[in-house]
Amino acid sequence: MRTQADSPVKDKASAGASGGATPKDAAAVILLRDGTDASNPEVFWVRRSERMAFLGGFHAFPGGQLEAADAQVRVENCEDAEACAMIACAARELFEELNVLVARGAETLTKGQRASLLDDLESGRMTFAELLNHYGLHLDADDFRFSGRWVTPPFSPRRFDTWFFLVNCPAKQEPYVRGEAELESGEWTTVAEAVARWERSEVLTAPPVLHALKTLAGGLTADLRERFLSVPQSHREPVRRIEFRPGFICFPVRTPTKPPATHTNCYLVGASEMVIIDPASPYEEEQAALASCVDDLLREGRNVREIILTHLHPDHIGGVNALVKHLGGRVRVAAHQLTAEALDGSISINRLIADEEIIELEGEPRLLLRAMHTPGHARGHLCFHEERTGALITGDNIVGLGSVLIDPPEGNMRDYLRSLERMRALPHLTVLFGAHGPAIGNPRAKIEEYIAHRLEREANILAALREGACTPAEIVARVYTDVHPKALPMAERAVLAHLEKLEADNLLALRDDGCYIAND
Ligand SMILES: [Zn+2]
Repeated sequence: MRTQADSPVKDKASAGASGGATPKDAAAVILLRDGTDASNPEVFWVRRSERMAFLGGFHAFPGGQLEAADAQVRVENCEDAEACAMIACAARELFEELNVLVARGAETLTKGQRASLLDDLESGRMTFAELLNHYGLHLDADDFRFSGRWVTPPFSPRRFDTWFFLVNCPAKQEPYVRGEAELESGEWTTVAEAVARWERSEVLTAPPVLHALKTLAGGLTADLRERFLSVPQSHREPVRRIEFRPGFICFPVRTPTKPPATHTNCYLVGASEMVIIDPASPYEEEQAALASCVDDLLREGRNVREIILTHLHPDHIGGVNALVKHLGGRVRVAAHQLTAEALDGSISINRLIADEEIIELEGEPRLLLRAMHTPGHARGHLCFHEERTGALITGDNIVGLGSVLIDPPEGNMRDYLRSLERMRALPHLTVLFGAHGPAIGNPRAKIEEYIAHRLEREANILAALREGACTPAEIVARVYTDVHPKALPMAERAVLAHLEKLEADNLLALRDDGCYIAND
């Protein structure tokens, strides 16, 4: 997905009703192996590079964003101009990413000829349309079976309106991942094995991929298309309940949170016995949506053990009282003692969660959440680690978009770095479930990035002090040169947090006149 994550142009946020960025047109290909077993077909899936900003480390299908030139490609048996362009996008992406060319006439090309065509395309000597014309090839809509159109939920910093096409891999062509920037690897898998790997928590997939695998697991039947299109999400209805992992449901709700985030993730964890972490939204319609999701899960046989709060911030607790009321007042609310004390009077916390406490959730799979008291962003902040699957619910300590604000006195940079280091030391870590944005499939790299970013800022602040800056405002002016004027007050709070840490580390001193001086 070349243009998706590497585009220098930032997604323009549009203030739609749902909030979030405007979805961009994209296409993806579910590639079926030639002559595959119709009862348990083989598909080609790829693992996205962990360096990718969007769904790094996830298993996915090849695909990417629509390019203007895709509209110039001739597609036979295609009535609708939009669909034709999306087919062209799918064919081009499949060729660019996996070196598989699904075009009429391409069966006579040798592997070497295909490689030279690909080189023409990638070097920019020819557009995809020119290349097909030049070699007397054309696309045919019959080779691209429409299998749904899914829109990334508004909680994501990058959003796509993706057309999925089921495509038979031509005989004598073998997909090939070069292990470049975007895709780390790719392989044929039977759909049964792919679903089993997801169920064993070995892979991460986005909802449309899981839906495709489960649909294909029903076999290549005559009603395959209807089964693909049987869920409203395959017709662009936003996905609300996202099961990134068995037993971990992410339900983003719109909240008055800090931009670029527009939503807070509520997590419903447990395959039978369930905890609800951060019912966050103060908005009635969002509370109703969450309540209806909880009701669905209750009908499916789960039960609610308790509501858990990661920390005290308003964009995490706005829906607690409403959910307690919806559940007839019979559900406990649990949090760290420091959170309970701070919220006293607004939310009644019935149970305190201590560091290292284990919360056992019966079900299939059975989950063991180990609570970690991880102050820094907030004094009473809790994270939860599931040791068997390596999932870590990170609250606001690590998020899938935007940055984490450390605002003293509630925020404390020294504590925060210690908390990050504690997360880094966890023995088994496969995914981070943050309170904002999509799940993070490259957990160790993300934690390293967070620590490195703070240490770099710290070094820059010390350097600024040595160069004569004295107050937080002066330091911000030197260090945060790329920050929007509106964000300057927040940057000052962050600098203050760093200064407090450096003072505690005995690396600087605060003079009586309010000036910070670096110690030598
Ligand atoms: Zn927060």
